[in-house]
Amino acid sequence: MNSFTTATFNPATRQPAISGSLLYSLAAADRRTQQILEDVINGQELSEQDAIRLFDAEGPELDALVATADYLRQKSVGNRASFVITRNINFTNVCYMGCKFCGFAKRKDDPEAELLSMDEIVERAQEAWDRGATEVCIQGGLHPNIDGDHYRNILIAIKQRLPEIHIHAFSPFEIWFGALKSKMSTAEFIQDLIDHGLGSMPGTAAEILDVEIRQQLTKDKLTTAQWVDIIKTAHRLGLPTTSTIMYGHIDQPRHWAAHLGLLREIQKETGGFTEFVPLGFVHYESPLYLNNKDVRPGPTVQENIRMHAVARLMLNGWIDNIQASWVKLGPDYAQQMLRSGANDLGGTLMNESISRSSGGKHGQEIVPEDMVRMIHQAGLDPVRRNTLYQPLETFAATVEVTDLEHCRSIKAPSVSHHGQQLIATSAAGAV
Ligand code: SF4
Repeated sequence: MNSFTTATFNPATRQPAISGSLLYSLAAADRRTQQILEDVINGQELSEQDAIRLFDAEGPELDALVATADYLRQKSVGNRASFVITRNINFTNVCYMGCKFCGFAKRKDDPEAELLSMDEIVERAQEAWDRGATEVCIQGGLHPNIDGDHYRNILIAIKQRLPEIHIHAFSPFEIWFGALKSKMSTAEFIQDLIDHGLGSMPGTAAEILDVEIRQQLTKDKLTTAQWVDIIKTAHRLGLPTTSTIMYGHIDQPRHWAAHLGLLREIQKETGGFTEFVPLGFVHYESPLYLNNKDVRPGPTVQENIRMHAVARLMLNGWIDNIQASWVKLGPDYAQQMLRSGANDLGGTLMNESISRSSGGKHGQEIVPEDMVRMIHQAGLDPVRRNTLYQPLETFAATVEVTDLEHCRSIKAPSVSHHGQQLIATSAAGAV
């Protein structure tokens, strides 16, 4: 029935055994899907063509895909799932780039326009540090009045107060903008940021790395070639980045497969990606959705499952960490993704003072204890990690499992920018 060469447990290599349920799932799938999945288990690279087929999997084929992704997750990273304590600091929401999917950007004269002072940025970083954060994630709109030094000054201000905190900051779009403003090459600009404390970069603003789709989403202001060049430059300079996709709008499975294929090629060349984060399109407040009846309102549940599972197969052996974003998916579905190929829940994203100031009923945060419970309930061992996936803390296997009402009451933020979910704010400091 099967032709595995790794089908049995090998104590020498410590490969996980292929379970009876995986064998059963494979046997129930159609012959072509079974062959594709067996080939990947046996170490063959998943082709873009076969990925497109898997993106259509339903019923027994979807079950087999998920079981295979879960097996490969275990083979790559073991029985663990991780999270990081971090805080998002969105230093400005002013941006004139006009990305059509963006519900975040404001004009300068908008009552909700915001540009945080350096003191406010540092204060938020200090609050995060005091609550156990090892990382701050800093991104903003492309404010026409800030100069290129602004990015460096943010790093200097935070590092002066908190020399140990990891600063994960500035999307490739911001790097492009800052370099332009500074009249520097992107390599010079990135090196300068590294010299002043930048620890890693979000691989946001990728959206879909396809010329035709980007033209419609972003007017191609940051082209696929520019995104790839900035990411490769960062990697070449020793700066790790994440990688992302924003899916579920005007895109199709062939775009997803090509996007994953491109990320895999970059990783083969540079080895600089720490993780892959699927980010479903958020349609609320998005002009792309509101002004076009053909645009989908984000991915379906099945598409989310397929994306995490196919990513695990496609990136197998190249990018070990597939993140399920609880902010995008909600805690229940994020937990489900941990058994569909993902091995990480991302950040706690504390932003409580901001959500209070904007009148939010619930905090925009999952506390570490919630992360631990979610991972335990998925049947995996929780690990608190740092930004670069080094383990910092493990947790007892017998944590009391309580209900997740707190997590479930958290509403997903309704805006996004650079393809990443952000948290709406109306805190003081608006310009
Ligand atoms: S996605 Fe980012 S760059 Fe594009 S309009 Fe929104 S804030 Fe500006």
